[in-house]
Amino acid sequence: MVEVIRKGEENGNNMPIRLTLPSGVEIIGLPTENFYGGEWDLGPTWNYLLLTDRPFLVDTGKFGMGPKLLEMMESAGVSGGDVDAIVVSHGHEDHDGGLFGMVESTGAKVKAHRIYDRLIRFYPTKAPAGVNKNFPASCWHCFMPESFSSQHCLGYHQERGRLKIEQIGDDLCTLGEAIHTYYVPGHSPDALAILVGDEALIVGDTVLPEITPFPSREAFFEQVREILAPEYTRAQSIYGLLAYIRSLRKLEQIGRTFTDLLVLPGHRLFYNNHWNEIDLQLRINELIEHHIDRCADILKILKKGQRTAREIAAAHFEEHLLKGVGIMMAENEVLSHCELLCASNDAVLTGDREFAATGSSNFESLIRSLEAE
Ligand SMILES: [Zn+2]
Ligand SMILES: [Zn+2]
Repeated sequence: MVEVIRKGEENGNNMPIRLTLPSGVEIIGLPTENFYGGEWDLGPTWNYLLLTDRPFLVDTGKFGMGPKLLEMMESAGVSGGDVDAIVVSHGHEDHDGGLFGMVESTGAKVKAHRIYDRLIRFYPTKAPAGVNKNFPASCWHCFMPESFSSQHCLGYHQERGRLKIEQIGDDLCTLGEAIHTYYVPGHSPDALAILVGDEALIVGDTVLPEITPFPSREAFFEQVREILAPEYTRAQSIYGLLAYIRSLRKLEQIGRTFTDLLVLPGHRLFYNNHWNEIDLQLRINELIEHHIDRCADILKILKKGQRTAREIAAAHFEEHLLKGVGIMMAENEVLSHCELLCASNDAVLTGDREFAATGSSNFESLIRSLEAE
């Protein structure tokens, strides 16, 4: 069912493939390079071109990846002009970096969740104190140093902020015949999954093989609350680990209804010379157990005494994961779990930045009781 159109690198980069679903629908997989590398390597971004009556592309790789995508598409016999629409799985730069360039060269329209349409814009007068007003709202919480963002992100932000978006809402939305989007916030507040008939499910970064997607943080909600549509009133509905686990449950439900889905992730479909097939139910259960274990570990650390997220990260993660920006990624990851432990009343924020255990242990039953929203 997988035809490798052209050999690429052993991490899958630059290796266009053709997937033919049992109904005959073809999906072209277009993996584009990621530069993050090192200990937190995700592997290339897998973008997917669906050859339905009106072909559409899901995701566009990092900034500047347009020409690579077009070239890979051509190797599959599709030209840029054939693309009717581009759908954004979520607003992370490794997925929408090439978007503006692809819109310019194909003329395709852009479809994305309505929160995406808000977050990519600039709000110089509405930006809360302490954030960089020159960034779009999506990046008000960014922890990368200014030197990095002025070099790598400015052009991307400015171009992306000019895009016209056809908004997709929270409810099931139809993209084409038997093609529907599901809103699955948590890894990102604007994340979508796309169901193709009863045959394939494109999951973006919400479910990945081999690696666990990082959850966003509830705390980001307060920064952007004012610029979101007024119906978004609860942080936990769109940001953070609770939202993420509810979205996993939503995908699990889809997997129960459609039992033979080919699951197409945003990373690691192919990596280190092997294919990763995803059993949706199994992988979702693994991911949920992973977060239960991580909450348990963090609570154990807190029971020894109150700690900041950075101290917890230093105690929990292996040292090689904490080098460079690794420490900030680890800290963020810990904070997502601390937010859940606070929601379950197992921890409290004391003073400014330290968390303390309360003595209870409710997090596991809270996580297991979460249902799709
Ligand atoms: Zn992502
Ligand atoms: Zn990604």
